Amino acid sequence: MKVAIVVGHCQRSQGAHNPRYDQSEYNFNVALANQIHALLADHPTIRPEIVYRKLNPGIRGLVRKLNYLVRPKLIVSLHLNSFGNPQANGTEVLHWHRSKRSKEFAMIFERHLTGLLRTRDRSGAAHAKGVSEEDRGGYVLRYTKAWCVLCEPFFLSNPVEAKKGMESLDDGTLSQAYTDAIKESVRYLGAKR
Ligand SMILES: [Zn+2]
Repeated sequence: MKVAIVVGHCQRSQGAHNPRYDQSEYNFNVALANQIHALLADHPTIRPEIVYRKLNPGIRGLVRKLNYLVRPKLIVSLHLNSFGNPQANGTEVLHWHRSKRSKEFAMIFERHLTGLLRTRDRSGAAHAKGVSEEDRGGYVLRYTKAWCVLCEPFFLSNPVEAKKGMESLDDGTLSQAYTDAIKESVRYLGAKR
Protein backbone atom coordinates (compact mmCIF):
# COMPACT_ATOMS: atom_id res chain seq x y z
CA MET A 1 0.00 0.00 0.00
CA LYS A 2 1.38 3.33 -1.04
CA VAL A 3 1.61 6.07 1.58
CA ALA A 4 2.54 9.60 0.52
CA ILE A 5 4.55 11.61 3.02
CA VAL A 6 4.03 15.21 1.99
CA VAL A 7 6.62 17.76 3.06
CA GLY A 8 4.71 20.87 4.11
CA HIS A 9 5.83 24.11 2.39
CA CYS A 10 8.78 24.45 0.03
CA GLN A 11 12.33 25.72 -0.27
CA ARG A 12 11.24 29.18 -1.36
CA SER A 13 8.40 29.52 1.14
CA GLN A 14 9.39 27.71 4.30
CA GLY A 15 6.33 28.20 6.51
CA ALA A 16 6.77 28.83 10.23
CA HIS A 17 10.16 29.88 11.60
CA ASN A 18 11.68 29.90 15.08
CA PRO A 19 14.36 32.62 15.21
CA ARG A 20 15.91 31.39 18.47
CA TYR A 21 16.84 28.06 16.92
CA ASP A 22 16.88 29.38 13.35
CA GLN A 23 14.61 26.46 12.55
CA SER A 24 12.19 26.64 9.66
CA GLU A 25 9.14 24.46 9.36
CA TYR A 26 10.17 23.30 5.89
CA ASN A 27 13.63 22.12 6.97
CA PHE A 28 12.10 20.32 9.94
CA ASN A 29 9.58 18.61 7.66
CA VAL A 30 12.28 17.51 5.19
CA ALA A 31 14.34 15.84 7.93
CA LEU A 32 11.24 14.23 9.45
CA ALA A 33 10.00 12.92 6.08
CA ASN A 34 13.38 11.30 5.38
CA GLN A 35 13.40 9.60 8.79
CA ILE A 36 9.86 8.25 8.35
CA HIS A 37 10.74 7.03 4.86
CA ALA A 38 13.82 5.20 6.18
CA LEU A 39 11.80 3.53 8.95
CA LEU A 40 9.25 2.23 6.43
CA ALA A 41 11.66 1.35 3.63
CA ASP A 42 11.83 -2.34 4.53
CA HIS A 43 8.17 -2.78 5.41
CA PRO A 44 6.65 -5.73 3.52
CA THR A 45 3.42 -4.01 2.46
CA ILE A 46 3.78 -0.26 2.96
CA ARG A 47 5.43 1.67 0.14
CA PRO A 48 6.35 5.15 1.38
CA GLU A 49 6.96 7.99 -1.03
CA ILE A 50 8.11 11.48 -0.09
CA VAL A 51 6.27 14.19 -2.01
CA TYR A 52 7.49 17.77 -2.29
CA ARG A 53 5.64 20.73 -3.62
CA LYS A 54 6.91 23.67 -5.58
CA LEU A 55 6.01 27.32 -5.09
CA ASN A 56 4.46 27.10 -8.56
CA PRO A 57 1.99 25.58 -9.29
CA GLY A 58 1.59 25.42 -5.51
CA ILE A 59 -1.21 23.62 -3.70
CA ARG A 60 -3.26 22.84 -6.81
CA GLY A 61 -0.21 21.33 -8.49
CA LEU A 62 0.44 19.27 -5.39
CA VAL A 63 -3.09 17.89 -5.43
CA ARG A 64 -2.83 16.99 -9.14
CA LYS A 65 0.52 15.29 -8.54
CA LEU A 66 -0.96 13.25 -5.67
CA ASN A 67 -4.12 12.29 -7.55
CA TYR A 68 -2.67 11.41 -10.96
CA LEU A 69 1.01 10.65 -10.47
CA VAL A 70 1.73 9.36 -6.96
CA ARG A 71 -1.74 7.84 -6.38
CA PRO A 72 -1.35 6.74 -2.76
CA LYS A 73 -4.00 5.21 -0.51
CA LEU A 74 -3.08 7.42 2.42
CA ILE A 75 -1.54 10.90 2.56
CA VAL A 76 0.28 12.18 5.64
CA SER A 77 1.00 15.89 5.32
CA LEU A 78 3.75 17.17 7.63
CA HIS A 79 3.39 20.61 9.19
CA LEU A 80 4.07 22.47 12.42
CA ASN A 81 1.78 24.96 14.07
CA SER A 82 2.69 28.59 14.74
CA PHE A 83 1.00 31.58 16.35
CA GLY A 84 1.86 35.13 17.42
CA ASN A 85 1.28 34.34 21.08
CA PRO A 86 4.21 32.11 22.18
CA GLN A 87 1.96 30.46 24.79
CA ALA A 88 -0.15 28.76 22.13
CA ASN A 89 0.45 25.03 22.37
CA GLY A 90 -0.74 21.56 21.58
CA THR A 91 -1.15 18.98 18.85
CA GLU A 92 -3.66 19.18 16.05
CA VAL A 93 -4.39 16.70 13.28
CA LEU A 94 -6.69 18.00 10.58
CA HIS A 95 -8.90 16.06 8.20
CA TRP A 96 -11.63 16.85 5.70
CA HIS A 97 -14.74 17.17 7.84
CA ARG A 98 -16.87 14.94 5.62
CA SER A 99 -14.40 12.09 5.35
CA LYS A 100 -15.21 9.62 8.13
CA ARG A 101 -12.26 7.39 7.32
CA SER A 102 -9.80 10.31 7.32
CA LYS A 103 -11.19 11.23 10.71
CA GLU A 104 -10.42 7.73 12.01
CA PHE A 105 -6.86 8.12 10.78
CA ALA A 106 -6.56 11.60 12.27
CA MET A 107 -7.53 10.18 15.65
CA ILE A 108 -4.81 7.54 15.35
CA PHE A 109 -2.16 10.17 14.54
CA GLU A 110 -3.38 12.50 17.28
CA ARG A 111 -3.08 9.71 19.84
CA HIS A 112 0.46 8.73 18.82
CA LEU A 113 1.73 12.32 18.64
CA THR A 114 0.23 13.54 21.91
CA GLY A 115 1.39 10.29 23.53
CA LEU A 116 4.98 11.02 22.59
CA LEU A 117 5.12 14.78 23.10
CA ARG A 118 2.75 14.96 26.10
CA THR A 119 1.09 17.86 24.35
CA ARG A 120 -2.46 19.07 24.74
CA ASP A 121 -4.92 17.52 22.33
CA ARG A 122 -6.19 20.62 20.51
CA SER A 123 -8.66 18.69 18.45
CA GLY A 124 -10.89 18.24 21.49
CA ALA A 125 -13.09 15.33 22.41
CA ALA A 126 -13.28 14.11 18.84
CA HIS A 127 -9.48 13.95 18.79
CA ALA A 128 -9.39 15.34 15.30
CA LYS A 129 -10.73 18.48 13.78
CA GLY A 130 -12.68 18.64 10.58
CA VAL A 131 -11.91 21.55 8.31
CA SER A 132 -13.76 23.11 5.44
CA GLU A 133 -12.11 24.20 2.21
CA GLU A 134 -11.55 27.75 3.38
CA ASP A 135 -9.61 26.65 6.45
CA ARG A 136 -5.89 26.09 6.34
CA GLY A 137 -5.01 22.94 4.50
CA GLY A 138 -8.64 22.53 3.48
CA TYR A 139 -7.96 22.43 -0.25
CA VAL A 140 -5.53 19.51 -0.02
CA LEU A 141 -7.68 17.67 2.51
CA ARG A 142 -10.74 18.02 0.33
CA TYR A 143 -9.47 17.46 -3.20
CA THR A 144 -7.04 14.61 -2.78
CA LYS A 145 -8.64 11.30 -3.71
CA ALA A 146 -6.76 9.40 -1.02
CA TRP A 147 -7.50 9.59 2.68
CA CYS A 148 -5.55 12.49 4.03
CA VAL A 149 -4.41 13.85 7.38
CA LEU A 150 -2.53 17.08 8.03
CA CYS A 151 -0.44 16.84 11.20
CA GLU A 152 0.73 19.73 13.36
CA PRO A 153 2.41 17.93 16.29
CA PHE A 154 3.48 21.10 18.13
CA PHE A 155 3.89 24.87 17.93
CA LEU A 156 7.25 25.95 16.54
CA SER A 157 6.43 29.40 17.96
CA ASN A 158 6.23 28.04 21.52
CA PRO A 159 9.76 27.92 23.06
CA VAL A 160 9.05 24.91 25.29
CA GLU A 161 7.35 22.88 22.57
CA ALA A 162 9.92 23.87 19.92
CA LYS A 163 12.78 22.57 22.09
CA LYS A 164 10.98 19.34 22.90
CA GLY A 165 9.87 18.88 19.30
CA MET A 166 13.36 19.42 17.90
CA GLU A 167 14.76 16.94 20.41
CA SER A 168 12.17 14.39 19.31
CA LEU A 169 13.35 14.88 15.73
CA ASP A 170 16.99 14.46 16.69
CA ASP A 171 16.49 11.32 18.77
CA GLY A 172 14.17 9.73 16.21
CA THR A 173 11.16 9.35 18.52
CA LEU A 174 8.96 11.69 16.46
CA SER A 175 9.50 9.79 13.22
CA GLN A 176 8.87 6.57 15.16
CA ALA A 177 5.53 7.94 16.42
CA TYR A 178 4.50 8.84 12.85
CA THR A 179 5.61 5.43 11.62
CA ASP A 180 3.61 3.67 14.34
CA ALA A 181 0.55 5.75 13.39
CA ILE A 182 0.98 4.89 9.70
CA LYS A 183 1.30 1.18 10.50
CA GLU A 184 -1.75 1.29 12.74
CA SER A 185 -3.74 3.09 10.03
CA VAL A 186 -2.80 0.45 7.47
CA ARG A 187 -3.76 -2.34 9.88
CA TYR A 188 -7.07 -0.58 10.53
CA LEU A 189 -7.73 -0.41 6.81
CA GLY A 190 -6.93 -4.10 6.39
CA ALA A 191 -9.32 -5.02 9.19
CA LYS A 192 -12.12 -2.98 7.59
CA ARG A 193 -11.91 -4.78 4.26
ZN1 LIG B 1 2.70 24.50 7.71
